[in-house]
Amino acid sequence: SNHDLKKLDDAHHLHPFTDFKELSAQGGSRLITRGEGCWIEDDSGNRILDAMAGLWCVNVGYGRKELAEAGYRQMLDLSFYNTFFKTTTGPAALLSAKLAEITPAGFNKVFFANSGSEANDTIVRMVRHYWNLKGKPSKKTFISRTHGYHGTTMASTSLGGMSVMHGQGDLPLPGFVHVMPPYPFDLANGMEPEAFGRLAARMVEEKILELGAENVAAFIGEPIQGAGGVIIPPDSYWPEINRICREHDILLIADEVICGFGRLGHWFGSQRFGIEADFMTLAKGITSGYVPLSAVMVGDRVAETLIEEGGEFYHGFTYSGHPVACAVALANIAVIESENLVERTRTDIGPYLRAKLEEALDGHPIVGEIRSEGLIGAIEIVKDRKTRERFPGGGKVGLMARDHCFRNNVILRGIRDSLVFSPPLTLSHGEADEIARLAKLSLDQTARDLGVL
Ligand code: PLP
Repeated sequence: SNHDLKKLDDAHHLHPFTDFKELSAQGGSRLITRGEGCWIEDDSGNRILDAMAGLWCVNVGYGRKELAEAGYRQMLDLSFYNTFFKTTTGPAALLSAKLAEITPAGFNKVFFANSGSEANDTIVRMVRHYWNLKGKPSKKTFISRTHGYHGTTMASTSLGGMSVMHGQGDLPLPGFVHVMPPYPFDLANGMEPEAFGRLAARMVEEKILELGAENVAAFIGEPIQGAGGVIIPPDSYWPEINRICREHDILLIADEVICGFGRLGHWFGSQRFGIEADFMTLAKGITSGYVPLSAVMVGDRVAETLIEEGGEFYHGFTYSGHPVACAVALANIAVIESENLVERTRTDIGPYLRAKLEEALDGHPIVGEIRSEGLIGAIEIVKDRKTRERFPGGGKVGLMARDHCFRNNVILRGIRDSLVFSPPLTLSHGEADEIARLAKLSLDQTARDLGVL
């Protein structure tokens, strides 16, 4: 029974990003049993509107037969074969070509892994290998941003800028440094956004000058920082980063794990912001989360050096280019194309959801800002709308609001004092109305708890 399942889970399952003791004390986990479209269902039969698309990944919605059938057919044809030692499979070959087709010009080579973390680890190795081949072995250090999230392996946690994660495991590793994120809401201090974007980029340049460009290997950033709180940079930021990386001979890595596959209303966030990257990290939306798969897109200039001069690259995962995952990714991309989900996100449902949230939360006493791009966004919670003063508690209010959402059967995530959303790209207008209604209800309840309403 579902009751037994929950007991077994509580007894044996160590959950990621979870306080094990606290979870057990509150009686274990909520059991999710089904998913269809933008909805999931729990063991009590509650239908829950998933405005987070799982972990920012279920871009085509739950329960798509096209994806299930592609996986099923591939398992019967060839359930597994590796891509090591000069072998390949049909799905791996076709997906490589498809990714080269849909990613920006200059990306023609792909290396497969299973998760965003592994893909970023792969990039760390490739970058250092590249600079060694170029006769610049001192170029070792990676620069990234506070609040950046790049995964949970030792190297990808080090790339990330989350101090709570660094505490466990004695991280970051040497050779990983962090700079200020382009977060206008919290950091601009009344500065005009475009000027603030240039300032945040200048912090990257100053860090390069401080370290010496001859010691800096690469800069990594998410086009929009997702897990750090949906931080949308001013338009001036990325063009400046392009210039800085070019001028100082530093490789640029766009971590597209959340922003890729239509989330921002463009195939990739790099296209929205004009990022001229040497690497792109892809995961999540590549299969809409149906099976694990990630990919490193390697830009032409790096690929040429690795191919021509690199010799054997001693790196790979048993499941690099897994045929079932690649078959599902191809079916997923076919759905995104045939249902026009990228354009629909940019021109229709993205702006519609934003307008509905603005309408529902207009003048709300604890809402300081609503921002979004395509179908990713954040609602900032403040004590004072004019001064942007926060409530005491260092992020507790975001969790209070999230818990109200959860009880109201809509999933939004609490990140510090904000509620963030990233629903499936198949979201209907009616479902967008419902997200806005339930977000308002939950924020009203939060405001009442805080004695503001
Ligand atoms: N990069 C970004 C931008 C992410 O958001 C994530 C996961 O949320 C990762 C990397 C890590 O991906 P994974 O959890 O698949 O290892």
